[in-house]
Amino acid sequence: MDLSIKMLSEIPSVIRHHYQAGTINWPMGIYITLVHVIGIVGFTKIMECSKETLMWAFLLWPISGFGITVGVHRLWSHRSYSASFPVRLFLMLCNSIANQGSIYHWARDHRVHHKYSETDADPHNAMRGFFFAHMGWLYVKKHPEVIRAGKELDFSDLNEDPVVMFQKKLDPWFALYMCFVFPAQIAVKFWGESFWPAFFVAGALRYMLVLHFTWLVNSAAHLYGDHPYDVVSYPSENPYVSFFAVGEGWHNWHHKYPFDYAASEYGISSQFNPSKLFIDMLAAVGLVWGRKRGTAAWDMGRVRRDRDREAGVPLPKPAPRPWEVVKSNNSKQD
Ligand SMILES: [Zn+2]
Ligand SMILES: [Zn+2]
Repeated sequence: MDLSIKMLSEIPSVIRHHYQAGTINWPMGIYITLVHVIGIVGFTKIMECSKETLMWAFLLWPISGFGITVGVHRLWSHRSYSASFPVRLFLMLCNSIANQGSIYHWARDHRVHHKYSETDADPHNAMRGFFFAHMGWLYVKKHPEVIRAGKELDFSDLNEDPVVMFQKKLDPWFALYMCFVFPAQIAVKFWGESFWPAFFVAGALRYMLVLHFTWLVNSAAHLYGDHPYDVVSYPSENPYVSFFAVGEGWHNWHHKYPFDYAASEYGISSQFNPSKLFIDMLAAVGLVWGRKRGTAAWDMGRVRRDRDREAGVPLPKPAPRPWEVVKSNNSKQD
C-alpha cells in the first residue's frame, strides 16, 4: 500500500521540490487550504445550529453530489443520457452548490482523465500516489501533457449548451455564492437560523466533506478494490467510495464502459447507486431519455473471458503498481 508512513514523510521533500521548481499553484493551493480552515471552523459550529439546519446540511450532500455525479459526470462529461432543459438547469444549480469548478472545465479535465488514465496527461494521475490523486494535484501546476491533451479533445457539445455556458460566464462567483451563501440564506429565510452558523455548517463544512467524497473516486477508487471487468486497469470496484460519492465508486466498470449512465453493472438493489435511481426517476416522468448501458458489451466480454479460461488462456496480468516495484527492490536489497 502506498499510503504509508514513508509516503507521508516524503511530503516535505515533495513540497520543497515543487517550490524550487516553481510548480506550486499558489492561488488554488491557498484556496484549498482556506476551504479546510473554514470547514474545520464549521465543525465547531455544529452545536450552534438548529435541527433543521443540520438536516439541510445533510441533504446538501446528495443534492450537491448529484450535481457532480448525475450532472457534470454522467451527463456533461460522458453524454450517457440526454436531459431536458429544466433538468439541465436544476443539475447546473446543484453543480454550483458543489462548487468544483465550472461544468465546462470539470468535463474537460474528466474527458482527459479517461483518455489518458494513469499517465502524465491524467490530471490526477494515481501513479503519483494516493495524496497526489486525491488533492495534491490541485496544489501544483498542471503537467504540460495535461494541457496538451486538453487542447486536443473536442468540447463543441459543451460550447453549444447554453446552461453550461451561462455557468462558465459567471464562474467562479456564481458557484461561490451557491456553495457558501445560498445554503445560509435558505436557513435564515425558512426557519430563522442565524446566518453564520448556517454559513459554516451547511456551506463550508458540507462543502469540504463533499470535496473529499468526490476526491476519493480519483484516489481510493483508483488504488483499492476489485477489478472484475478489466484486470489490467487501475480503477476498481470500491463500495465504500460508492457510499460517500452517492454511487460513483464502481469505477472498474465505469472506466471500462464510461458511456453507461448507471456507472455500475447492476441496479440499485445490489450496488448502492442513488445517482442511477435519480436518473431512472427522471426518465419515468419523461424528463430524461436515451439512457445508455454497457451490459450488452460486457455480456460479450464475459463470454470471451470464460471461453479463454476454459481453453487455458491465462488472464492478462496487470503491471505491478509503483509501490510494489519499490517494495520488491527494497526486499532485494535486504
Ligand atoms: Zn477515474
Ligand atoms: Zn468518468
